[in-house]
Amino acid sequence: MVKVPVRLVSWDEIVKWSWGLAKKIRQAGYNPGVIIAIARGGYVPARLLCDFLGIENLISIQSQHWTEAAKKSERAIIKFEYKVNLENMKALLVDDIIDTGESVILARDYIIREWKPKELKIAALQWISPVAKIKPDFYYLEVKEWVWFQYPWTRLEDVTQFLKRMLTEESKNKKEWKYIEIIRKFIEWYGIEVDEEYYKEALRTLIEKGLLEKRDEIFIVKV
Ligand code: ADP
Repeated sequence: MVKVPVRLVSWDEIVKWSWGLAKKIRQAGYNPGVIIAIARGGYVPARLLCDFLGIENLISIQSQHWTEAAKKSERAIIKFEYKVNLENMKALLVDDIIDTGESVILARDYIIREWKPKELKIAALQWISPVAKIKPDFYYLEVKEWVWFQYPWTRLEDVTQFLKRMLTEESKNKKEWKYIEIIRKFIEWYGIEVDEEYYKEALRTLIEKGLLEKRDEIFIVKV
């Protein structure tokens, strides 16, 4: 039984979804002079939209939840505040997914207040409609049931966190693991498989952080 609903997203799907999103923006007749990527998730979609819509100007804003003890805190913040003057420009704010919508709302309000674009619209590849506090002006896919989309640009980060969570929880019953047992349990927990280099690098990181120790090909959980 899968414990966490995860959907693996490929680079090919990202390109296809970005084409679809670009088409919707074009069909609506919106012609932004600048794209603003929300760091970090919006970077790849924003870059592809620049290509598919023929837009040269790309800037970014980092809107992030403070993470405390591996928990999402309530408040999102703008990191690295800076000023640009967009008074004469139409802008498009781009993110990968609108989940709660909090970070995109924060970025939108900051941009309108501080950068003062002539117009600002929001685009995202995906919109989780039942939980989002905001509906983007443009989206490619509406998601009706919450899942974690494992995008190709966060694969190592996600696999590391997934393994950490799984091994910590499973350590109540089992502290010593063979590599192949870890992989089998990962597939059972998350219902996805990734290339071997991701598991290996993630395990190396967890050893470096002191969560795991490796002795004679056995991984020992240190919690
Ligand atoms: P928002 O809802 O405004 O996107 P969140 O804090 O919920 O704000 O999400 C911030 C970022 O976290 C997203 O842009 C995305 O990169 C990542 N993220 C959030 N939810 C998911 C999800 N369900 N699947 C994959 N990535 C997600």
